[in-house]
Amino acid sequence: MQRLADSNPLARAFVDAACAAGHPRNEDFNGERQEGFGQVFAGTLVERINLRGSRATGITIRNKGGRLELDAAVEVVLCAGAVNSPQLLMLSGIGPAAALERHGIKLAHGAVHAGRARCGAT
Ligand SMILES: Cc1cc2nc3c(=O)[nH]c(=O)nc-3n(C[C@H](O)[C@H](O)[C@H](O)COP(=O)(O)OP(=O)(O)OC[C@H]3O[C@@H](n4cnc5c(N)ncnc54)[C@H](O)[C@@H]3O)c2cc1C
Repeated sequence: MQRLADSNPLARAFVDAACAAGHPRNEDFNGERQEGFGQVFAGTLVERINLRGSRATGITIRNKGGRLELDAAVEVVLCAGAVNSPQLLMLSGIGPAAALERHGIKLAHGAVHAGRARCGAT
């Protein structure tokens, strides 16, 4: 979660109105409090996790505004669901070398189990 550097005036007015009505402002929904009003990126696809060596340093997103790289202040928490989490790992170059190579993805970190079913089938 990241505070928007530049947001549209309507979104700012919405959050300001919620705060004026007595609701808490929340700048980080992954922080100690989940309640409150704040802004998140909607209609946005995460394309990949950006890596420096084997360390995740941010993400690349795409939305109506185009493609944007966001740096993580502390860490990247991957929670894209059971299918899309491993897909994002693989799109980021983390996965079985042969599978990544088939799709022209440069290997960043070998992880033979990423993207494989863990319920008996391989
Ligand atoms: C039909 C069905 C019924 C279920 N019933 C129950 C139940 O009764 N009780 C129960 O406890 N659990 C139930 N579950 C399981 C429960 O839904 C999941 O365990 C839970 O939703 C997992 O949460 P999550 O946050 O890990 O992933 P998700 O809820 O899958 O959230 C992942 C989010 O990431 C977003 N995302 C994915 N890829 C990207 C990307 N590249 N860029 C941007 N966003 C992305 C998705 O749009 C989604 O909003 C059910 C699941 C299904 C399919």
